[in-house]
Amino acid sequence: MICVFEKNVDEREVEKLTLRCQQEGIPHHLFYLGGQYRLLIQTEIDFVANWPESDVVIEMLPYTQKRVLTNCQFQPHTVVKFGDLEIGSNQFCVIAGPCSVESSQQIFSIASMVKQFGGKILRGGAFKPRTSPYDFQGSGQQGLIDLKHAADAHGLLCISEVMDTRDVDMVASHVDIVQVGARNMQNFCLLKELGKINKPILLKRGLSATYEDWLSSAEYILSHGNFEVILCERGIRTFENYSRNTLDISAVPILQQLTHLPIMVDPSHAVGMREFVPSLAYSAMAAGAHGIMVEVHTHPELSISDARQTIAPETFAEMMQKLKSMAPIFEKHM
Ligand code: PEP
Ligand code: MN
Repeated sequence: MICVFEKNVDEREVEKLTLRCQQEGIPHHLFYLGGQYRLLIQTEIDFVANWPESDVVIEMLPYTQKRVLTNCQFQPHTVVKFGDLEIGSNQFCVIAGPCSVESSQQIFSIASMVKQFGGKILRGGAFKPRTSPYDFQGSGQQGLIDLKHAADAHGLLCISEVMDTRDVDMVASHVDIVQVGARNMQNFCLLKELGKINKPILLKRGLSATYEDWLSSAEYILSHGNFEVILCERGIRTFENYSRNTLDISAVPILQQLTHLPIMVDPSHAVGMREFVPSLAYSAMAAGAHGIMVEVHTHPELSISDARQTIAPETFAEMMQKLKSMAPIFEKHM
């Protein structure tokens, strides 16, 4: 159930109720949203309604579904803000960078190019989820240091993936957004840990996850206290094997009906072939996405990972130009 408090409630009253939950050993989470406290208590309404501490609660909402916090009824809109940059509003945010951070020089020159053409966030994997254990596994913490350094030097934010619960705090200390890759979308231990940190999470869709699976994973993060979750559609496995995956563009408008969380699109991992990346990027904007994440490299063919889907600077520049001219038609700005 969810207890909703009056807007100007005395915080001591809220504390009394959370204390009661602690004493009873009932899992609970306190949220402050839209100037109002809400307490999610994992028990029945009738039980809590009997407590004198609940007298100050103005509304008690049952939850009959498996998801509560990711639903639009709980909150109409989430906008993740970094100063002027917003993900979840009518801004169209471009995250770009190499699949992997390969060296400080590589990420530095890519950062410069990303900045020049209007990207806002620099991506670069330092812990890579590779299908084969013999493939490059990423440059680890040094990669994160290089990524952050390159981003800072060019006035960009940065994002990188975390795969292991033991690395959560370390990765979060270097980046502005922590990425959960498709392969870890249902790593519930990881999701719970990410719910406890104070950095936005970009949650990629699992390779064969339904919308409900995906949103339930987001619910794990929210229910552990972190409301800044951005969804990212990155293509799913279908019977079609010509392209790497199949971009489920329907996910964009449908998820906007199902949840208040922002949604972005990764055209690179979806199609897997660089010549088709711009078309998918345009479709993401047309479908109403809050932005895209693309793999770019100054020398795409030399990329250590995902070379085939990585676009060149000229393609990136042209794509950004077209996105900017399309934006007003779709009530977006960049
Ligand atoms: C990535 O963004 O580098 C990545 C590994 O993507 P995904 O988890 O979507 O495969
Ligand atoms: Mn990649």
